[in-house]
Amino acid sequence: MTATLEVTDLHKSFGGVQAVAGVSLRVAAGELLALIGPNGAGKSTCFNMLNGQLRPDRGSVKLRGEEIAGMPPRKVWRLGVGRTFQITATFGSMSVLENVQMALLSHERRIFDIWNPVAKRDATRAMALLERVGMVGQAARPCGVLAYGDLKRVELAIALANEPALLLMDEPTAGMAPAERVALMELTARIAREGKIAVLFTEHDMDVVFSHADRLLVLDRGRPIAEGSPAEVRRDPKVREVYLGTGATHGYA
Ligand code: ADP
Ligand code: MG
Repeated sequence: MTATLEVTDLHKSFGGVQAVAGVSLRVAAGELLALIGPNGAGKSTCFNMLNGQLRPDRGSVKLRGEEIAGMPPRKVWRLGVGRTFQITATFGSMSVLENVQMALLSHERRIFDIWNPVAKRDATRAMALLERVGMVGQAARPCGVLAYGDLKRVELAIALANEPALLLMDEPTAGMAPAERVALMELTARIAREGKIAVLFTEHDMDVVFSHADRLLVLDRGRPIAEGSPAEVRRDPKVREVYLGTGATHGYA
């Protein structure tokens, strides 16, 4: 079966630094793969090569079998790669509903011509998306007044408006309280499984990673050092070494 995302032997250097050196991975529809490793391991560089921000030095990135490595971000997004941002992508003065309607509008523009009146239909669809992320009750509020965790849920709705086949989440829960982190990842996992969306994510909180990822890929200095189920990765001596090396139990993504 064709994986939603298939990455083979990805490389990227910055000057003398090999940020990513030989990363391969697959994510199937409806599957959550966590990319973890210490700071500087190359996780964000991987994400940026998958979303079109960075061109790989070498390697292949296939989305549903189609090569997308080196394509510009907008084209990658059009092909169905969604992402959430570390800094939220919403407009503070616009309502929750309007923000999601905007996202739907820009999604539809790739299919319909711009004169097609979409506003009415989009309000209904925007509400359906808000329903999926549990934000219907706050549809009329300006995004600027929302609690941080709620803003993240709106951002997820915005990403879903593009009907992504793949969702990239680079530290989606950064800055959130532990309970909010769990809630956001539970929501993401449910939406991914129901909608058959492949998800690649990083996350600092190891409890969240181990309880929500189907599989994990561990990077250290740009190289994969372990891969497998949460249980397999948890007892891998190489992973323990990397973690114990810094003496921290948290603070890893
Ligand atoms: P992570 O997200 O796992 O913390 P990054 O992918 O951000 O790691 O960084 C991997 C390595 O690449 C680090 O050594 C970092 O300093 C370096 N790096 C990342 N982006 C750049 C850049 N734009 N220019 C130079 N070096 C970079
Ligand atoms: Mg990073």
